Amino acid sequence: MITYKNIMENMVEEMYEKMKDSLGCCQCERCHNDIVAYALNRLPPHYVVSRSGALYAKTFTMEKQHEMDIATEIAKGAMLVRSNPRHDEERSCPA
Ligand SMILES: [Zn+2]
Repeated sequence: MITYKNIMENMVEEMYEKMKDSLGCCQCERCHNDIVAYALNRLPPHYVVSRSGALYAKTFTMEKQHEMDIATEIAKGAMLVRSNPRHDEERSCPA
């Protein structure tokens, strides 16, 4: 099946994984998703058309500028989540 995919989602996830320990922010599922969603809402989408299941990384080499933009938005998102965590509804996170 050929489909489209916003690979910015993968790039933000990847960057979050690299940064999460230095963010000083709760890493529960809720907070993780809040941070990624915050960043994705502020970054331009980058759609590619590909066979589902194929590797997307090869279709787009991440430029340094992209990397910096992504890191900046994740850091902003983490700051927001840290000062206003929404994991209270979820029992999984005590932080
Ligand atoms: Zn949390």
